[in-house]
Amino acid sequence: MIAVRDLTFAYPHGGFALNIPTLTVDAGERVGVIGPSGTGKTTLLNLVAGLVQANIGQITVAGHDLSALDEASRRRFRATHVGFIFQNFALVDYLTAFENILYPYRVGLGLRLDAEARDRAHALAKACGVAHRLKSHPQALSGGEQQRVAICRALVTQPQLILADEATGNLDPETKEAILDLLFARASEMGATVLAVTHDHDLLPRFDRVIDFATLRQPT
Ligand code: ADP
Ligand code: MG
Repeated sequence: MIAVRDLTFAYPHGGFALNIPTLTVDAGERVGVIGPSGTGKTTLLNLVAGLVQANIGQITVAGHDLSALDEASRRRFRATHVGFIFQNFALVDYLTAFENILYPYRVGLGLRLDAEARDRAHALAKACGVAHRLKSHPQALSGGEQQRVAICRALVTQPQLILADEATGNLDPETKEAILDLLFARASEMGATVLAVTHDHDLLPRFDRVIDFATLRQPT
């Protein structure tokens, strides 16, 4: 599902550079990534999602060589293959929770917003415990509720790859477990791969494999 080889990335105006010699994630695998903040975990997820592009090296996701795709093609790839749960949720302020869950259909080329998609949005909201908040806007939701809405949005398109950046960070311990159960159950149903950055060491035993980011990254 993911194959990274000799990847180098640097932000245009920043001093930070990331070098990943190799990373392979199999289809259906659930991989957790741990590591101190500021070391490039979010940057790696952004690279895998095609939100940013590597300067050097190769990154292939679901058979697509992301280094060879222009921005429009990467956007299309992302819409049809990737569900991304952002560290800061990245919900759209002027949309309701329900509209936020269906947001991928507003921007996603090749995605059709039909009755099935709406039904999936409702079912996910119910399973995530936010069905009663669907008419609210993000600013009226608690942090945990925003997080659940962000999780629903990442799952609604039934992506092959789920990228989660601290997806359970704002939840209490019991809810964390429940949300991760839900995420994994949906991933299993869809045969999806999960790559999740987490600081929750309690949750690590649930992953098939845990990668320490320090061992993945080559010091620059
Ligand atoms: P982590 O997720 O492990 O905390 P990040 O990938 O968010 O780390 O950030 C890694 C480094 O890149 C940090 O030093 C951060 O300040 C820097 N960085 C993140 N985004 C940008 C950006 N858009 N431009 C320049 N530097 C950035
Ligand atoms: Mg981060």
